[in-house]
Amino acid sequence: MKVLLIGYQKSGKSASKLLKKLGYKVVVIDDDRKIDINNYGRLLDSLSFIVVSPAVLPDSPILKEAEKHNIKIIGELELGTQYLKGNLIAITGTNGKTTTTYLVEHLLKSDNTFIGGNVGIPITSFAPKTNDDSITVAEVSSFQLMHIDKFRPHVAAFLNLTPDHLNYHKTMQDYLNAKLNIFANQTQQDFAILNADDAITASIRPTKSKVYYFSTKKRVNGCFVSGGNIYFRDTTKTIAPTGKLLVAKVSDINLLGEHNLSNVLCAICCALVCGLKPQVIKERLKTFKPVEHRLQYVTDIDGVSFINDSKATNISSAVCAIDSMTKPTTIILGGSDKGCSFDDVFNHEPTLIKNYVLMGETQAKLLDAAKKWGRQNVFLASSLSSAVELAYRLSSRGENVLFSPACASFDMFDNYEQRGKCFCGIVRGLKKSENNRIKNNKKTQI
Ligand code: ADP
Repeated sequence: MKVLLIGYQKSGKSASKLLKKLGYKVVVIDDDRKIDINNYGRLLDSLSFIVVSPAVLPDSPILKEAEKHNIKIIGELELGTQYLKGNLIAITGTNGKTTTTYLVEHLLKSDNTFIGGNVGIPITSFAPKTNDDSITVAEVSSFQLMHIDKFRPHVAAFLNLTPDHLNYHKTMQDYLNAKLNIFANQTQQDFAILNADDAITASIRPTKSKVYYFSTKKRVNGCFVSGGNIYFRDTTKTIAPTGKLLVAKVSDINLLGEHNLSNVLCAICCALVCGLKPQVIKERLKTFKPVEHRLQYVTDIDGVSFINDSKATNISSAVCAIDSMTKPTTIILGGSDKGCSFDDVFNHEPTLIKNYVLMGETQAKLLDAAKKWGRQNVFLASSLSSAVELAYRLSSRGENVLFSPACASFDMFDNYEQRGKCFCGIVRGLKKSENNRIKNNKKTQI
């Protein structure tokens, strides 16, 4: 019993531990780009299966070779969920996965709930601890969904689909096909939760599972908003015996923006189909706070509010952040390139964006798009700290500085978390020096 593990980072290491516990001999390749494929024929023929990291490209030569040898290729998600007991709720989409996953977990929380997947907690790390009454809430990415086999969530939610990761999936259809795998093994006992406001997710027709929708705009069969209240409509009376439930008020939510309302509606659908009572949902909603790096308020400096949205690693999430602003805002944009067009960031109207500060590898591409759409107040910065400083100088009291890069972070940082922490650190440093400056000014005036 031999398994080849391709990719030996967090989820790879966790998968390896579980595999060894199960009695497999594990052969590890940490970087598939560095190996000579000609040396692997004999090894491939001796394998039970391959566990591949989501970071490995689908056209990797070792995967192509493995396919020729007819070897099953699965991901850590598939391996972990094969050993998971109880109910699994899986959440996917281009944006909002982490927020919604944490929300669902917050709503259902007990001493037998688990959270994992793409949130940075490998399913293999806790699967053996689950039992028949456990509930696992998992964020699942398109990369993870590429390598499933029997993966079958009891509840599968699909939030939205907009262009992203096109350097990996090549086409939107490939990207969608990977995401659709979330429903592939569902049965009539399972639930699919779909966003009725997103053209792509609204048109999905899962073949077997029961479908509920969520919408911030329409009265759907599922969760919707009317007169400041959140309702759940159930035409088949499967979940709500009366056909309609009043669940909570929009004012019970502590998150910025309509996109987050949409995430909340999705989370409520997931919680209700798992049997949670509306009163419990309402109470727990009130205590949920934004997840770090997602429209997270950092601090105020002399009346200017700083918001860290480092997780805005694509265009649509930055556009949502722009839409969520309620005051004049200077936005800091830029990072590493994912091959998408920036037009939507600049042709977006109406908007409270007063200034654009551009930085990073995509600076020139962003500048071209800003010029194309006739934006005037566009400024260039050579680093994150000079961007923060500049954005602050451009802002007046009562305004926001929003760090929502619309790009990945790999040009200057290890990941978006490090980038967000760095932003918060720079802001706090600036606050200290500004407070000192203001104090000293007062002293010299005396
Ligand atoms: P994901 O895990 O899918 O990347 P997050 O919850 O981490 O989602 O949010 C990522 C970014 O997308 C953040 O900048 C956030 O403000 C934005 N965002 C969150 N939910 C949505 C949504 N439903 N639609 C668009 N953007 C969203």
